[in-house]
Amino acid sequence: MTLGFAVDLKKAPESVELKTHNRWHPNIPLVKSFKPGDSFRVECYDWTGGQIGNNDKANDVRDVNLTRVHYLSGPFGVDGAEPGDLLVVDINDVGALPESPWRFTGIFAKENGGGFLVDQYPDAKKAIWDLNGVFCTSRHVPGVRWPGIIHPGLIGCLPSQELLDKANKREAALIATNPNRVPPLAAPPFADTALMGQMDAKAAAAAAKEAWRTVPPREHGGNCDIKNLCRGSRVYFPVYVKGAGLSMGDIHWSQGDGEITFCGAVEMAGFLDIGVDLIKDGINKYGIKNPIFQSSKIEPKFSEYLIFEGISVDEQGKQYYLDATVAYRQACLNAIEYLKKFGYSGEQAYVILGTAPVEGRISGIVDIPNACATVAIPTEIFDFDIKPNAAGPTKKSFGADVATAS
Ligand code: ZN
Repeated sequence: MTLGFAVDLKKAPESVELKTHNRWHPNIPLVKSFKPGDSFRVECYDWTGGQIGNNDKANDVRDVNLTRVHYLSGPFGVDGAEPGDLLVVDINDVGALPESPWRFTGIFAKENGGGFLVDQYPDAKKAIWDLNGVFCTSRHVPGVRWPGIIHPGLIGCLPSQELLDKANKREAALIATNPNRVPPLAAPPFADTALMGQMDAKAAAAAAKEAWRTVPPREHGGNCDIKNLCRGSRVYFPVYVKGAGLSMGDIHWSQGDGEITFCGAVEMAGFLDIGVDLIKDGINKYGIKNPIFQSSKIEPKFSEYLIFEGISVDEQGKQYYLDATVAYRQACLNAIEYLKKFGYSGEQAYVILGTAPVEGRISGIVDIPNACATVAIPTEIFDFDIKPNAAGPTKKSFGADVATAS
């Protein structure tokens, strides 16, 4: 297997010669080019570039410098790729690097990132996970164990200058509606901590002022955080620049739909084995705007779920019109309250929803005025029965909780 990109986990990614990039810009130079039909291996740092440690304090989660993320490996060129094509990407394998056998999950503080349930859980917390073959377990979240649905949280192609400008404009307009909000409405360009891959220093300084932050998903893919875009799936990316410029990172061992604690997945450094091919003029042929993908045949399978419903009426009883975000938040809060009855802290339950392969769905979005969202938890991930019965829940003493900051 050709190695397309190597990392050195003993060093800070800022100090190695082969620089990652933590911004998107059309002029970031390709690190290597491949032919349609080629396969290659890509090593990746974890999304924070090693800012989180394997310990029982969440100070590092509280203090993560979010302007430095995500550390992306690439961009890779594909010979013959032109704007308008579709880049076909096979995620042939995803795995751990032997020097990094542990993973982490963070609940991010309101002042530094936040999360989906930031009003209920505003403080920094952390859980460490240990890998055992296809399974992972956590000393901070006892009583659960499941096989990974291992995937890159972030993968996509370089944007064109036109797309870059368009998104910068629309995101700036959103920020302007409430520029002092905590957490902020969007992450605008920020040059100080930009890594621009192999770009020379002068060009990089200029480009960094307009380069996209890697936080949101956009038309090119990016930080989609889709758990099913996993080992064994095939993704079709719209190509915006000559050569395509495919980059990736932010590998997750597992994640629940929504990645709701913000750093909600089981986060890891690792490798991706990638195959590439092209569909010429595929954007026109298939009417593509955002990436599409074929699911994998090797996702973990569960036979039973306990499913929590939520509607678009918020915690204060305010009625919203078909608002799926409000409805999903209620479904998640309902699931957390239920799991607390079995002895979990709210934060532990929040971490389970963010990390386990839970299925989040918009179940109904037409029945005015309430959207109905559901969050489905596989009952088989618990080493005890979580189903309701006449006797009521047995509260367990887990003797452990997520790590806090001091
Ligand atoms: Zn991630």
